[in-house]
Amino acid sequence: MLLTNGADSIVEGQSLPRKRNTVKRDPDAKPSRETATGNRMKMRTIPSATLVLCIALLCAACSKSGMGAHHDFFATEDDYVQYVEQNVRFDGLELAIVDIQRGENFWKIAKRHNVNIDTLLGANPYWESLVASLDQRIIVPSRKGVLHFVNSRSEIRDVAKAYQADESSVLVQRLPVMDGILRRFTSRSPIAVFVLNARPRAINMTEALASQFNLREMFRSPLGGRYSSFFGGRIHPIFREHRFHNGLDIAARHGTPVGAAAGGVVTSTGWMGGYGNTVIISHPKGFRTLYGHLSRISVRAGQQVGAGRLIGRVGSTGWSTGPHLHFTMWHNGKLVNPMKVLW
Ligand SMILES: [Zn+2]
Repeated sequence: MLLTNGADSIVEGQSLPRKRNTVKRDPDAKPSRETATGNRMKMRTIPSATLVLCIALLCAACSKSGMGAHHDFFATEDDYVQYVEQNVRFDGLELAIVDIQRGENFWKIAKRHNVNIDTLLGANPYWESLVASLDQRIIVPSRKGVLHFVNSRSEIRDVAKAYQADESSVLVQRLPVMDGILRRFTSRSPIAVFVLNARPRAINMTEALASQFNLREMFRSPLGGRYSSFFGGRIHPIFREHRFHNGLDIAARHGTPVGAAAGGVVTSTGWMGGYGNTVIISHPKGFRTLYGHLSRISVRAGQQVGAGRLIGRVGSTGWSTGPHLHFTMWHNGKLVNPMKVLW
């Protein structure tokens, strides 16, 4: 019996889920022989208990410092995708792993799965670029929201707060039935949570993507948010276009309302050569936008406009072959490819 107990305790000292039993048995040690076993048990229990405590403290420190961004948990994009593929399952949410095929881009994939580019951003925090590469594997959630990782369930409230979401809209991945706390602290495997309908935050992105995301956050589509992009996910054709054509043409029906891409001051309005009826707006941080070929102009120079404010209507004035909006952007006097902003 004793031998069996001793053997058990050794195993238990190392196997984490059953450690609770070891602790429970500890105070029962009475006779000398059993005490010996007890001592042995202590020898094996105390270090692991200390370990648990240390890790718990570490985890607490971690969670205080950064709420466990993805980059704290996984070394590379491949590690991340593989981990999700093998370990993360939700009830009421599928996470598909999609291999990028020739001719694909992130927008097409998002559309096909009834989510949006933000959902893909929120599930793929290792992206360095918006150009999909052929050997890339990406995570495509079946619902809109952000995939996030935490160290323990206690962080879920903070996650909800960070995304300005209700705690009830945070899905938690399926976890083993076993009481999680000890196991989680000792194994330190991250817990995936999905914040339904949340938008991604630049803080969880790579630096390269965060700057593009922040720029996009500053602007909106001039066509009342119903912007349909021409570009096929490749920057190069657009970059080439950028050289010959200093802006973006957005085809739309004659008379479609055109809104200010961001708040600012109207600097000029009127006929401007090939652009026909045109509005130019100066925005904060050195940005300027131009809206050409308008059929109608609804603002005056010097006027302050808010983002989305109606400034005119789509037309075909000036050098134009059909109704569309010509949209040009500058930053500190230099042309900006609008596709870098309106994606
Ligand atoms: Zn144009």
